[in-house]
This record gives sequence, C-alpha cells and structure tokens, in this order.
Amino acid sequence: MLTALKKIFEHKCPICNEPLLSVNETLCCTKACPEGHYKEESYCSLGVRIVYDGLK
Ligand SMILES: [Zn+2]
Repeated sequence: MLTALKKIFEHKCPICNEPLLSVNETLCCTKACPEGHYKEESYCSLGVRIVYDGLK
C-alpha cells in the first residue's frame, strides 16, 4: 500500500512505471500514462482527485 502511494506521488504509472503526462487547465490538472494504464484528474479548487487505474 505504501509503495503504491509513493509511486502515485512520484507521478509515474503504477503499471509500466512511465512518467505521467500532465495537462494543466484552469480548474483541472490531468495526469495520464502515455500507454493509457492510468489517469488522474485533480480539481484543486474543489479539493477533489479522481484516479482511474487499471484502464485497459
Ligand atoms: Zn502505464
């Protein structure tokens, strides 16, 4: 569990370990694996983070 969290904070894909691609928009910051394994959306103004992992 701790290992998984650490990988998220390092902004690498937990599946293939590639660096995540980030897109910053006004209300939403998106980080995604270039291979499509993982996607994370952060809505900073709302304090909400949505993680999509295990994408096939
Ligand atoms: Zn990946």
